[in-house]
Amino acid sequence: MDDCIFCKIIQGEIQALKIYEDENFIAFLDINPRTKGHSLVIPKTHYETFIEMDDDLVSKIGLVVKHIAKTLIEKLNATGFNILNNNGESAGQVVKHIHIHILPRYGEKGHAMESAFPVDEEEKNNLEKTYNILKNITPLAIAHKKEKKSEGKKQEKKPDEDYEGVIFDMVDRLPDY
Ligand code: 5GP
Ligand code: ZN
Repeated sequence: MDDCIFCKIIQGEIQALKIYEDENFIAFLDINPRTKGHSLVIPKTHYETFIEMDDDLVSKIGLVVKHIAKTLIEKLNATGFNILNNNGESAGQVVKHIHIHILPRYGEKGHAMESAFPVDEEEKNNLEKTYNILKNITPLAIAHKKEKKSEGKKQEKKPDEDYEGVIFDMVDRLPDY
């Protein structure tokens, strides 16, 4: 994408301190590090957010993040790390090319969740309502199948439909929490 800083880094038009590269991803040090070794992992193909990424890349990026995080821990003697991915302006995404932050931690005080997201007391009182909206999320295999059907693709086999019936029966019988 023409006006994307991270695409320019991938193409070598903008310099970055690149620490990793493979067929699909690169990782480099964040220009404004929040901790020593703060790194960004990005796909070489431009996608704006995590949910727009190709499924195959979504499954692969986790392994790359794990590999880099392990390396950062070992080489920088970090004691822990945070993984962060901002999606959309409301979530604080500034660069519109999906990127995973890896932030090594060194035993310093500071609870990342508490400073970024203090407990929402109103939501705490509404937990049951939110749960009722979200419970019974369709198992991934079934959701994918429905997506394919709605795209008008031909389904050759039947077995998943039987599976779908079994899953929904099981879900219906789950107790309410
Ligand atoms: P976001 O808020 O979008 O999740 O984070 C974007 C990150 O990209 C920020 O932490 C910012 O410091 C980093 N960043 C922005 N421009 C550049 C750049 O040109 N080079 C590098 N290495 N990092 C960048
Ligand atoms: Zn891009």
